[in-house]
Amino acid sequence: MTRSYITVAIPYVNARPHVGYALELVQADVLARWQRSQGHEVRLLGGTDDHALKNVLAAAAVGVPTKQFVDQNAAAFEGLRVPLHVSFDDFIRTSRDRRHAPGVAALWRACAARGDFYRRWYEGRYCVGCEQFYAAADLIDGRCPEHGTVAELVSEENWFFRLSRYRDRILDAITSGELAIVPETYRNEVVAFLREGLDDISVSRSQDRAHGWGLPVPDDPTQVIYVWWDALGNYVTALGYGAGDPTFDTWWRGADERIHVIGKGILRFHAVYWPAILLSAGLPLPTKICVHPYLTADGAKLSKSAGNAIDTVSVVETVGVDALRWWFLRDVPRTVDADFTLERVIARSDEDLAHGVGNLIHRVVTMVHRLADGAVGDGVAPDGPVVDGSRASAEITAALDAYDFRRATGIVRALVDDANRRVDATRPWELPRGSRAARDALGDLVRRARLVAELLGPFVPETSTLARIALTPDATGRLPASRPLVPAIAPARA
Ligand SMILES: [Zn+2]
Repeated sequence: MTRSYITVAIPYVNARPHVGYALELVQADVLARWQRSQGHEVRLLGGTDDHALKNVLAAAAVGVPTKQFVDQNAAAFEGLRVPLHVSFDDFIRTSRDRRHAPGVAALWRACAARGDFYRRWYEGRYCVGCEQFYAAADLIDGRCPEHGTVAELVSEENWFFRLSRYRDRILDAITSGELAIVPETYRNEVVAFLREGLDDISVSRSQDRAHGWGLPVPDDPTQVIYVWWDALGNYVTALGYGAGDPTFDTWWRGADERIHVIGKGILRFHAVYWPAILLSAGLPLPTKICVHPYLTADGAKLSKSAGNAIDTVSVVETVGVDALRWWFLRDVPRTVDADFTLERVIARSDEDLAHGVGNLIHRVVTMVHRLADGAVGDGVAPDGPVVDGSRASAEITAALDAYDFRRATGIVRALVDDANRRVDATRPWELPRGSRAARDALGDLVRRARLVAELLGPFVPETSTLARIALTPDATGRLPASRPLVPAIAPARA
């Protein structure tokens, strides 16, 4: 048994959550659910980044006090766990969770004790959207490459963190595999960045520029801790870091895996800055960073600020949670952005879940009723040839270790197709009723269907539960009456 701590990035709450955020939640949830299904210990953490300057500006734009604005939006992010069936064990909101501020202060002090801070006058171009400084060479006509907005000129005295000190150690951790970054494209990107060398970074801002929102620098109340430092800290403050909480020893120091699931845009923060902070504070590094691409709508990045956000809750209300989850897992490529449309989600769900899984379960249960009066264990031999479930499980584990959801779901989809082909090949309805051959054929199909139902659990929990119920005999040893398991969505909308 292994122990895994899995986190998702904590988003800014400057607007309501869009469907791109849902992708990350579902991916992390599948990793957590799969590990639990294999008997491992898992803790899945989510949260919100309340201290971003973006939140302050967005609140001011609608004339609502920052705290009230943040509370409202953060609740919408946290609330997504219900419609998306995300199995969070914990959720941290950085502005109001009591664990956070003392933990961030402790992290700061640990790095200060290492001699990793110094004050310096600084001038640079800052993108509030990214909450980061940009070198002139990285801007396009003075504009942020991510947001296309003009980066503002900031000059002030800040606290600087000796990031440069940790370059060799981080490069070594990544190239040796101590800190895995998957898929490899993203690992190569970080390695190339590190090979160019690292500058120290500004990790505070004046109270003035922060509009008084955020956590004060310990022993220097004129400065506010840089929001990324504050936000990255959530991964350990949620475990009670700095408070002598044994949870931290169990789930950070004592975990076999410390996994961060993030979007490609914040790779540098997680693969360079965060490891440096941990090394400075004398804490173990993450073991793996899983990176996903973006979702787009008509080719443009989905973003809260761009205004093309697609509301997750209304998508779930329209197509159902498992259709959305399955599309994320089955169709979103590993490193290329995926264009989101409802039509794509519906087509994939209808093909795989309604016609593939739903049809298989419906056919099998119908046959058991017609040919064996619904009885499993009597009309259907429970001990016939065994489908190799452990091999499928091992293959799915390997795919998920590589953060490859398309490969993982493809394994289940192949089992569905095999089972459906098996129905056509064995034609149990042509075998003598009650014969050994009929019992074996039906038993084999029931076991295959059950395996599919079980393996689907971490991916599409609702469909899996319905399938299991359909394949579980009642007190009289009979399966429930057959009914369509997953109705097709497209015809109902036509
Ligand atoms: Zn930006």
